[in-house]
Amino acid sequence: MAVLNYLRTALIHHKHTLMMEVLKGHGLRYASLLHQEAYIGGKWVSAASGKLFPVTNPANSKVIASVPDMEVTDTEAAINSAYEAFQTWQTTTARGEVAQSPASSKELFFLRQPIGVASMITPWNFPNAMITRKAGAALAAGCTCVIKPAEDTPLSALAAVDLAEKAGFPPGVINVVTTSRANTPAVGKLMCTSPKVAGISFTGSTAIGRVLYEQCASGIKRIGLELGGNAPFIVFSSADVKSAVEGLMVAKFRNSGQACISANRILVQEEIYDKFSEALEEAVRKRLTVGDGFNKEVNIGPLININQLKRVERIVNESVAAGAGVVLGGKCHDMGDLFFQPTILCNVTEDMACFQEEIFGPVIALKKFKCEEEAVNIANASKFGLACYFYSQDVSQVWRVARRLESGMIGINEGLISTAEGAFGGVKQSGIGREGSRHGIDDYTYLKYICLGGIN
Ligand code: ADP
Repeated sequence: MAVLNYLRTALIHHKHTLMMEVLKGHGLRYASLLHQEAYIGGKWVSAASGKLFPVTNPANSKVIASVPDMEVTDTEAAINSAYEAFQTWQTTTARGEVAQSPASSKELFFLRQPIGVASMITPWNFPNAMITRKAGAALAAGCTCVIKPAEDTPLSALAAVDLAEKAGFPPGVINVVTTSRANTPAVGKLMCTSPKVAGISFTGSTAIGRVLYEQCASGIKRIGLELGGNAPFIVFSSADVKSAVEGLMVAKFRNSGQACISANRILVQEEIYDKFSEALEEAVRKRLTVGDGFNKEVNIGPLININQLKRVERIVNESVAAGAGVVLGGKCHDMGDLFFQPTILCNVTEDMACFQEEIFGPVIALKKFKCEEEAVNIANASKFGLACYFYSQDVSQVWRVARRLESGMIGINEGLISTAEGAFGGVKQSGIGREGSRHGIDDYTYLKYICLGGIN
């Protein structure tokens, strides 16, 4: 056994050295932030089983690291350490609030208290923002946390927790459990059902969000869900066409279209349709460079994995078969196994896959509309309600439309709405709760009402 462990350590060390060379070659500045162990109770640890799973670079499908493939027992250890750390961490922060009492013999207080251990399950697409947005609020409230990062991007989470350790967070306050997709359902279930866990915060697909919501029901756990979207991007005839094109380039192509707030259904009023689509085509043709993200000129990278590539390809093929026109692209890119061409589809109708589904890729689907009423109705005809964007210079229209859109977030004459100060979250099947801004802390606290009587 000892020999096996030694061999494994040697192998890991060897791989680590190789990988560091690879990443250093790409200009990795702080190689010490690269970890291939999980982080529980203030210690860098392997899975109890000793198993690992690989992390690959989607630009060339090469393995760049291996991290522990943790299971339920490892997750239990992480929850225990977060639970233990909560007993002291919870006392580090607090805010009080005093209300006016109706009787002079009483004083009424509201204490805002941390809920306890918070589980966090995050996606791969903005690996550190997804974690810090949750953990920042939880830790500030006095909660401790167990984080399960996406299996595609565990290294970012491990780098972040290394920085947290250096910043002085005590052992057990932040724990990171890495696990493969195969072990994730069991680990996720424990993170929802353990009596030591007070709440869970999840960002990811609506399908998985629904599973976690159900799993939280038996323990009546606090839950925050940031789920899928199908964002409309409406260009009204009064819009400044140049800035609408700029806004769409950002709202569509950031992260190669792999963001839950990516513009998905592009609606353009008929009077300016031709002008807008010509300017858009020129921007997409001239300004997008596809390649490996380590290359400075590149601004469109690969899709994250083969399932995602196949999904984008299927959505485009189905839409074209249903009558959509291909203005640009439409196929896999020859740059590598996971690249898709920046694509513009036109003559799209509402029933097509590119309007019905969240594309999550570099594909623009254009539809012409006649009047404001029609655009708002199309925008709201979705079970999702995460983000909406619209461009208009008409002040009354700006307010009319902003009030009517069924969406948690709206970008008006702006394609980049995500920021730490903004309240991020959706309505309908896009989720519950808000992250970021001062409201983001609500999910991690509860109000305790104290009535002090007998004052004379
Ligand atoms: P995406 O399409 O971005 O991969 P997912 O919802 O599938 O969206 O994944 C988001 C996160 O949810 C990832 O960390 C993933 O490992 C996790 N996840 C996937 N399936 C489950 C599950 N059954 N229980 C808990 N977490 C899950």
